[in-house]
Amino acid sequence: MLSVRDLQVRYGRSVAALHGVDLDVSPDGVLAVLGSNGAGKSTLLRTVSGTLRMHRGSVSAGEVRYDGKPLTKLDPARIVGLGVVGVPEGRQVFARMTVEENLRAGGIGARSPEQRAAARKRVDELFPVLSERAKQRAGLLSGGEQQMLAIGRALMSGPRLLLLDEPSLGLAPKIVERIGDIIREIHEQGTAVVLVEQNAVMALRVADHAIVLEVGRVALAGTTAELVASEEVQRLYLGGH
Ligand code: ATP
Repeated sequence: MLSVRDLQVRYGRSVAALHGVDLDVSPDGVLAVLGSNGAGKSTLLRTVSGTLRMHRGSVSAGEVRYDGKPLTKLDPARIVGLGVVGVPEGRQVFARMTVEENLRAGGIGARSPEQRAAARKRVDELFPVLSERAKQRAGLLSGGEQQMLAIGRALMSGPRLLLLDEPSLGLAPKIVERIGDIIREIHEQGTAVVLVEQNAVMALRVADHAIVLEVGRVALAGTTAELVASEEVQRLYLGGH
């Protein structure tokens, strides 16, 4: 469903962020993207979601295709329309708007009123806490609740592929575990996921395939079982020796 081939991305003239990345995500897959700070994980997601230009980045070579359609020249709204929806790093909810208003804003991208109603039901079932807090301003929610709202808002447009950028960032271990369970549930309901994470323990628990990015290149790729068995992943990402 998503295929990335020899993707090269730059910011301006001097910064080359991706040096030829290849990856595939199947319709029923969860792909974890691991890597340290600056490895290019967010750049990869920005390229797929079409937001790269907002960050002054550009694709210098390679291609990104979704169901065979090239994405690199499409704007973010068109990409959402194809069913590819991103949740950027840092839980960017509309802080002054209520939870309800945030969810409605996400529903603008829905393909039909029926689809919007189905998405709302799904969000209410996945995140009962959001219904309880429907009238509260999003900025007053806890970090974990804001992350749930950011994911819920993305689900409102009925994605077939969800792109999550570090959903565990800054959250307590219990909440990270809960978010991990929710990602699995979203996947079991039929939505594919690309999960960018520095929290390798969580990501490898949730995903079925994973890649490790190192300075803009894929250093390792395989099933999560293969990566967990790798000495390098154990040493660098799972705290083994
Ligand atoms: P982090 O976890 O810190 O977000 P990352 O793996 O997501 O790291 P990217 O944010 O994709 O990495 O950054 C990849 C490289 O591109 C880094 O060298 C970074 O400094 C550079 N970079 C990222 N955004 C920009 C930008 N808007 N302008 C210039 N350089 C950038």
